Amino acid sequence: MRVRMRQDGKRAVMKMYYSSRLFRLPLLRHYSALVLGRRCFVKAAWASERLIRHEMIHQEQMDRHGVTLFYLIYLKDYLKWLWIYRNHDKAYANIPFEREAYRLESEGQVLAQTEGK
Ligand SMILES: [Zn+2]
Repeated sequence: MRVRMRQDGKRAVMKMYYSSRLFRLPLLRHYSALVLGRRCFVKAAWASERLIRHEMIHQEQMDRHGVTLFYLIYLKDYLKWLWIYRNHDKAYANIPFEREAYRLESEGQVLAQTEGK
C-alpha cells in the first residue's frame, strides 16, 4: 500500500497488486502498470519507484477530474493523437496526462511513503 498527501492535505491510499493477471488481456498486454481508482495493478512481481511515482501522478489526475472523466479525457486525447500520427507509441506519448506524468515522475515531486507492500 502506498500513501501520498493530496493537495487538500488528505491522505490518498493506493493499494498495490503485483503480478496482475489483467495484463494478459490483449488490450493491456503492452502496459506495465494501470491505476483504477485507489488500486494500482502492476504487471511484474515488483515495480520501480519511478513507475510507482508515475502511477501515483495518474491517481492524482483522477482526484482532480474524477475517475470516469479522467478516462474519457485520456481516451479522447489518445484517439485524437492516433488519428494524427496513426501510431500507438506516438499517440500515447502525446496524451497530456502521460506527458505530465512522465515530466513529474523524474522530478521526484510525488511524496510517497510505503506502508507494507
Ligand atoms: Zn502513464
